[in-house]
Amino acid sequence: MTDYTKLMSDLRQRLAEVYDLQNIVALLHWDQTTYMPPAGAKARVRQLGLVSRLAHEKFVDPAIGKLLDALEPYGASLPYDHDDAALLRVTRRLYDQAVRLPPDFMSRLHEVAAESYSVWTRARPANDFSMVAPYLKQILEMSRQLADFFPGYEHIADPLIDFSDYGMKVSILRPLFARLRDELVPLVEAITSQPPPDDHFLYRHYPEAQQLAFGLDVIRRFGFDFERGRQDKTHHPFMTKFSLYDVRITTRVKEDDLTEAMFSTFHEAGHAMYEQGIALEYEGTPLAEGTSSGVHESQSRTWENYVGRSRPFWEHFFPRLREMFPEQLHDVDVDAFYRAVNKVQKSLIRTDADEVTYNLHVIIRFELELELLEGKLTIDELPEAWRARYREYLGIEPPDDKDGVLQDVHWYSGVIGGAFQGYTLGNIIAAQFFEKALEAHPSIPDEIRQGKFDTLHGWLREQVYRHGRKYTPAELIRRVTGEDLTIEPYIRYLKRKYGELYGLSFDEG
Ligand code: ZN
Repeated sequence: MTDYTKLMSDLRQRLAEVYDLQNIVALLHWDQTTYMPPAGAKARVRQLGLVSRLAHEKFVDPAIGKLLDALEPYGASLPYDHDDAALLRVTRRLYDQAVRLPPDFMSRLHEVAAESYSVWTRARPANDFSMVAPYLKQILEMSRQLADFFPGYEHIADPLIDFSDYGMKVSILRPLFARLRDELVPLVEAITSQPPPDDHFLYRHYPEAQQLAFGLDVIRRFGFDFERGRQDKTHHPFMTKFSLYDVRITTRVKEDDLTEAMFSTFHEAGHAMYEQGIALEYEGTPLAEGTSSGVHESQSRTWENYVGRSRPFWEHFFPRLREMFPEQLHDVDVDAFYRAVNKVQKSLIRTDADEVTYNLHVIIRFELELELLEGKLTIDELPEAWRARYREYLGIEPPDDKDGVLQDVHWYSGVIGGAFQGYTLGNIIAAQFFEKALEAHPSIPDEIRQGKFDTLHGWLREQVYRHGRKYTPAELIRRVTGEDLTIEPYIRYLKRKYGELYGLSFDEG
């Protein structure tokens, strides 16, 4: 008889080494973007390349394939929800994906991406799309080739989406996003035709030390575990993890903008609490990770927006904030503050966009990248297509490519396709989960009003976090909500919140 216990332990041992190598890559990267002196850059790139390659080689080792084959009958004999069944299922999926990627092709892709990125860092300030267009053409071609390593797809973007949002096909997302766009365009129009709230006081001088202290105090109350995490400063905020026992976030502070560090801290803490909440038994396996970029983003958005930009939250925290910044906020009350941090405006830059307009920025990118991949749009036509789409959906037009097609790093530093949908999925899924949490615990808003987050955090841990990558995003959404992915809760949330804020009455349908 086959000794499945022995085979499982062999598999786990190999996976644990891959896991550690991947986390060493993360550690090298974290250091690179936080504390590394500039002269360390060259060696660091080399080291990152080496350790990434080792991690990949260890994972695609045929020995892992053989173990997975031998363990197939064991996996099939277990209930679907069994942890071993999930481990085998997820490892099989990732293994089959990884072995299809030819190492030569991948290293060429990384080279082109690195070159393109470096040209983009000069092309954007120079406002010169033509500098980077030849690289983008190569990246588009290679993105198509990358998809073609997964023959049998329904849409060419599907395999690319699978890397970050497994199973979220174009056939699901395209109609869903189109409906969302049709809801959002008139909503944005109605809101922005109202007089905008005054938010000038957010841009007074706020010293860094107090800003950081306030953010840390809030996320400690959220439930961020500082025994298993920390925060440091960087240029572009992100969350990273080196094990389930060491989950880190970064932020950046602008002393003339109170919102920058604060909301990025809430956002990244949401990502981190997801990782910190994963069942510790999954440590060292592919299950010890959030299940998709969309579900991950749903958790950052929950804490940043559904909690951190809510009225109950500021009823509790505004008095504290004003104690910390008595001069800067002496002429501001909680109502004015709440309105200011929820100001909606048509703007050009995705990363600065508010809750309501944000998804239109993402949908524009998603639609354009599908058209590029489908061959319906060329790279040379892209800047004009970008402007046309901004006119159509947001009623504004970028005066130049710097704040237009050149603004996001994604296409210029990797692959065209699969990188943007997760942002909007996050907002949609966050609304679905949050609505369920409120249904299960109607006391949540009152608790938030008292600065308490245990019920919400506990519910999310139980329903979402502990499962890690055990369930696909679609499975998780169905388990948590009893429904499939749907935009209704999100639209309800936006109409209710912004209807009240802007004195508009929307048909909630
Ligand atoms: Zn995020």
